[in-house]
Amino acid sequence: MSVAPHFQRVALIGFGLIGGSIARAAKLQGLASEIVTTARSEKTRARVAELGIVDHVVATNVEAVKDADLVILCIPVGACGPVAQEIAAHLKPGAIISDVGSVKGAIVRDMAPHLPQGIHFVPAHPVAGTEHSGPDSGFAELFINRWCILTPPEGVDAAAVDRLRAFWAALGAKVEIMTPDHHDLVLAITSHLPHLIAYTIVGTADELQQVTESEVIKFSAGGFRDFTRIAASDPTMWRDVFLANKEAVLEMLGTFNEDLAKLTRAIRRGDGEALFDHFTRTRAIRRGIVEIGQDSAAPDFGRPHPPLTKQ
Ligand code: NAP
Repeated sequence: MSVAPHFQRVALIGFGLIGGSIARAAKLQGLASEIVTTARSEKTRARVAELGIVDHVVATNVEAVKDADLVILCIPVGACGPVAQEIAAHLKPGAIISDVGSVKGAIVRDMAPHLPQGIHFVPAHPVAGTEHSGPDSGFAELFINRWCILTPPEGVDAAAVDRLRAFWAALGAKVEIMTPDHHDLVLAITSHLPHLIAYTIVGTADELQQVTESEVIKFSAGGFRDFTRIAASDPTMWRDVFLANKEAVLEMLGTFNEDLAKLTRAIRRGDGEALFDHFTRTRAIRRGIVEIGQDSAAPDFGRPHPPLTKQ
């Protein structure tokens, strides 16, 4: 078990689901003497101040990073390059700079060229989230028992990597290190493709609504509603993910289309054995996820069911 690190000043650029959750958990764990965050609009700044989680909420990213020894960009992937450029000259020498973006190759490509010598760049991705966004959506327990993947570029200071690893461990996460390309390939199948499928099926059903007279919503408990949770995820975040991880997503989509064609053929040919074998294999995958503690074993995702009252 690593010792929890202590930072004098942590700057969180962006106070949405992830930034807000880091702030809440870091505060609870006493990981920083001071936490400062940015919020672009007057309204969000007022709300963050009202929540009382961070010590300072400021309007500009430059102001936030002043004297910070840990800076974490908690903003959409597409905004990370421009923000790195904006803050680069204002970073404290020796500071660790990180992010939480869902794509890593593009983050390294877009941020690294702007960062001066003496700054330790350790990109990160906490594989944890919900479909909610904004300053009220975060919660301190979000990272407990979830993975946080670090993708440090070659040659980065090992002590800085260790400090960030210990920071995430103190937030409750299990930490793993991999290359940005490997991360992007793994996440393309485990996260990005499922989101694309959910966005597609919900869109298709929405178009069918006109034909089915709102029955899509009425009978959604048949499976559809589980896709709608994923498809309710933040549009800006997911636009950036697909633009930034284009190659890996297209590769996985190719494999997916081939497998979909195989199942389509099995249905057309009435090949029950092929369907049964396939569904048996996928059921075992679900059990495996529950077994390693990455989801609850409760049926129907633990949704509450009202009691049946006697008529
Ligand atoms: P979110 O709740 O929408 O929050 C994003 C925050 O970024 C908002 O506070 C937004 O401010 C701010 N922002 C956007 N552009 C900015 C800029 N140029 N300068 C300063 N602030 C800016 O999003 P989130 O879910 O926390 O996602 C943040 C990052 O975490 C993304 O890169 C995403 O890929 C990654 N991530 C998300 C999840 C997930 O499930 N949601 C999981 C793991 C990783 P305004 O309110 O003023 O627009």
